[in-house]
Amino acid sequence: MQIRIIIIYFASENETMKDIKDIIRDSGLKVTPQRIAVYQAMLQLGHASADMVVALVAETHPTLTVATVYNILDSFEQKGLLARLAGPDTKMYFDISTHQHCHLYCNDTQSYMDYKDPELEQMLNKYVTNTKIKGYKTTSIDLNIRVELEEQ
Ligand SMILES: [Zn+2]
Repeated sequence: MQIRIIIIYFASENETMKDIKDIIRDSGLKVTPQRIAVYQAMLQLGHASADMVVALVAETHPTLTVATVYNILDSFEQKGLLARLAGPDTKMYFDISTHQHCHLYCNDTQSYMDYKDPELEQMLNKYVTNTKIKGYKTTSIDLNIRVELEEQ
């Protein structure tokens, strides 16, 4: 299991930029302005589709197409910098957090949120440890709970 902790909130802009360049370089990819912009957008968004990243970087990188952004996101995922989430529609979403964790998907805001519940995680780990699915070995569990806002 790969766990990366990125602290960006208290770093100066230059330090953050250096960290992003290091993260991209250390993954084995070439550092380009487009890759930096996409990674920065993912840090800001957390969970996002290629469309959402394009919308965020449009001001600074107006020539970046959805296809290019998707290819960058895909290469980041292959290098372990992002995780992939199958969206509720046919859209593919990416997650800046690559460690195993549960999600809430809000139908109203159409967005993913990380969902931390130690009791649930303990229950899932116990299930995986104690339950054998005949002929298979469990490698990970992706739990996505769909929710909607309660009426006020
Ligand atoms: Zn997540």
